[in-house]
Amino acid sequence: MSHPKLKNFRRIVVKVGSSLLIDSAAGEVRESWLKALAADIAKLHHAGKDVLVVSSGSIALGRSRLKLPSGALKLEESQAAAAVGQIALARIWSEVLGAHGIGAGQILVTLQDTEERRRYLNARSTISKLLEWRAVPVINENDTVATNEIRYGDNDRLAARVATMTSADLLILLSDIDGLYTAPPAVTPDARLIPVVEAVTADIEAMAGAAASEFSRGGMRTKIEAAKIATSAGTHMLIASGKIDHPLRAIADGGPCTWFLTPANPVTARKRWIAGSLEPKGILTIDAGAVAALRAGKSLLPAGVIRVEGQFARGDAVVVRGPDTHEIGRGLVAYDAENAERIKGRSSSDAASILGVSGRAEMIHRDDLVVGGPRNTD
Ligand code: GLU
Repeated sequence: MSHPKLKNFRRIVVKVGSSLLIDSAAGEVRESWLKALAADIAKLHHAGKDVLVVSSGSIALGRSRLKLPSGALKLEESQAAAAVGQIALARIWSEVLGAHGIGAGQILVTLQDTEERRRYLNARSTISKLLEWRAVPVINENDTVATNEIRYGDNDRLAARVATMTSADLLILLSDIDGLYTAPPAVTPDARLIPVVEAVTADIEAMAGAAASEFSRGGMRTKIEAAKIATSAGTHMLIASGKIDHPLRAIADGGPCTWFLTPANPVTARKRWIAGSLEPKGILTIDAGAVAALRAGKSLLPAGVIRVEGQFARGDAVVVRGPDTHEIGRGLVAYDAENAERIKGRSSSDAASILGVSGRAEMIHRDDLVVGGPRNTD
């Protein structure tokens, strides 16, 4: 079974786990390893790819900087440890990427930031802007405010959501194991590495289940959960060992790993989601000029909107209709119904002064718009 090549991907999320980043005996960052990883990231970046990093390590690093005794931490202890660790982690990433002339931007997200549509749009557009500026976003869960009930807890699933949220076409989970095995390799000498997983079936999940006890938090089970999130949104995923130096170069050279393939691609999967799975909360009727602009692949500006109907929040799906009420498409709207009503028909600069803040120039950004969706849906 063949798999795609690293060089063919456009936007890659690389997740780095705490056990790779932090030397457990010394309690410090494994600097030479991290520098080698940063060189790999820089190579992809300089080849024109968008690279995002999801980095764990805030709690582990904070714990060692604070010289906390070993043993389980209470919630508020791990939150406070993360506050100390995250600041150090951000500095290290900024230094190692800065050495290659790359700016690093820290993004701390909570579960709600990725699951609530309004906040999801905010995080997505900040990350897009960073990428447009050719910076590398370095992302972690906001562990200082995350509580047990409302947190990811593992960065495998967080990284998968970040990948789907940003329409990345590849997610790489660097792990302490080089991929998914048919059975736990530590206890099963004839366990085989599975190079390609075409679909996450019950059999695949069972293999992960068997292996879960072998590894600490974020074991194989959360990696398989991540694979489900990623592949269902059109993002390929791979698990590879991060224990070696230059782990990304090793993947590019065909080193051992497990690929989880998806038949879709992130842009079409997202557009399908916008067009088909979301219940529209309102209708925007637009003028003929805006219809032509949308059909030419442009964004919908406030100026082109004639009528606003329905009760919707920022980030909700809305139906877009032409002046003859025919459906032109669907999209995620950047303003709530009240503000959309206030700025309809106005230029983007008028809209900014009406709202008193300079918000987004577009009513619906073209990345959030599907033109030619289902018709006659009234
Ligand atoms: N967000 C946690 C941290 O930075 C890591 C979660 C994980 O280990 O996956 O410490």
